[in-house]
Amino acid sequence: MALIVQKFGGSSLESAERIRAVAERIVATKRAGNDVVVVCSAMGDTTDELLDLAHQVNPVPPARELDMLLTAGERISNSLVAMAIHSLGAEAQSFTGSQAGVITTERWGNARIVDVTPGRVRNALDEGKICIVAGFQGVNRETGSITTLGRGGSDTTAVALAAALDADVCEICSDVDGVYTADPRIVPDAQKLEKLSFEEMLELAASGSKILVLRSVEYARAFNVPLRVRSSYSNDPGTLIAGSMEEIPVEEAVLAGVATDKSEAKVAVIGVHDTPGEAAKLFRVLADAEINIDMVLQNISSVTDNTTDITFTCPREDASRAVELLTKLKEEAGWESVRFDDQIGKVSLVGAGMKSHPGVTAEFSEALRDENINIEMFTTSEIRITAVIREADVDVATRALHARFQLGGDEAATVYAGTGR
Ligand code: ASP
Ligand code: MG
Repeated sequence: MALIVQKFGGSSLESAERIRAVAERIVATKRAGNDVVVVCSAMGDTTDELLDLAHQVNPVPPARELDMLLTAGERISNSLVAMAIHSLGAEAQSFTGSQAGVITTERWGNARIVDVTPGRVRNALDEGKICIVAGFQGVNRETGSITTLGRGGSDTTAVALAAALDADVCEICSDVDGVYTADPRIVPDAQKLEKLSFEEMLELAASGSKILVLRSVEYARAFNVPLRVRSSYSNDPGTLIAGSMEEIPVEEAVLAGVATDKSEAKVAVIGVHDTPGEAAKLFRVLADAEINIDMVLQNISSVTDNTTDITFTCPREDASRAVELLTKLKEEAGWESVRFDDQIGKVSLVGAGMKSHPGVTAEFSEALRDENINIEMFTTSEIRITAVIREADVDVATRALHARFQLGGDEAATVYAGTGR
């Protein structure tokens, strides 16, 4: 008997009708002879609506209360799914994150899972029940505080439970058929991928692919939990994410796809003295303010005045805070100026096949040149090339790279109207 963890995204639970459809799928999985643990996101846009409400009663809601509020979203969908399963003649029991033993840090709004002790879930499984666990939430052991895991955190709940219960697979079910070579809304001939290594999925998630939350992929890799991204509605097997890229034979290593990201801004600090400690000063201030840095670029020092420029990207919503902090520091540090640009976008090409193909960076640059697109920043890893370009150029660049590296297929991709969650 296999143990399957199935996670359903909010759009698959949007209405009573969809909840009944999901319940049918869960019961079918159980009746096929599997043990089933289900993790639900909140129905549709519930989390956004709750956030809105909170801000209407208090523009700066206390973090603890906000988490209490937001966890309600997953408890609603959870219990409704359990009820729908009962109506189909199967037995189900719902659990809050805390009841399921999801133990986290006490960082409200963005807690990390530190342990999972799913004793109650295990017992209910042994009694033949389908277990329904509320995603995106946990509890801090020391203080008993209820926490949430950050937006999209139900993916992480599902993977963490799958790891703790030693599940055979963790299925992430949403309104897309799997992981595609590019966003099908941008690239009409994008193809669904059959299989990806953890490293490739990590790079895609870190480069803007929204199909899985980055942290859930990190967790899956660390605990070696195979993931299957698939549609809640069809029987398509979707995309399997498993194994290390080191295990892929060279001749089978290919390029996985093009990811795009329009969520970052670029900040440049001009005229930084080229002496030890300047970058440390700069990035320490940002770290203390919990601003996550993505790409970093430092120019070579100018010969005339021995200064350099340091440019980095960070989430757009944090950029004005970053500029404020660095502008404060500017006087004391003797830097020239702090500049800010939120009209940027990133395109990334990802794939294990890159390791064995020389010239990928050249072809990448040529594809952008042929569209007259200027590259503003450039970074590479072993299996990824990323360029920062104008935001307005991102869609054209994505199509150009996708075509240049022949990632398309003959079939047009299925595009659902949904959100991909
Ligand atoms: N409901 C939460 C959100 O919308 C968590 C999730 O969907 O995974 O971010
Ligand atoms: Mg959601």
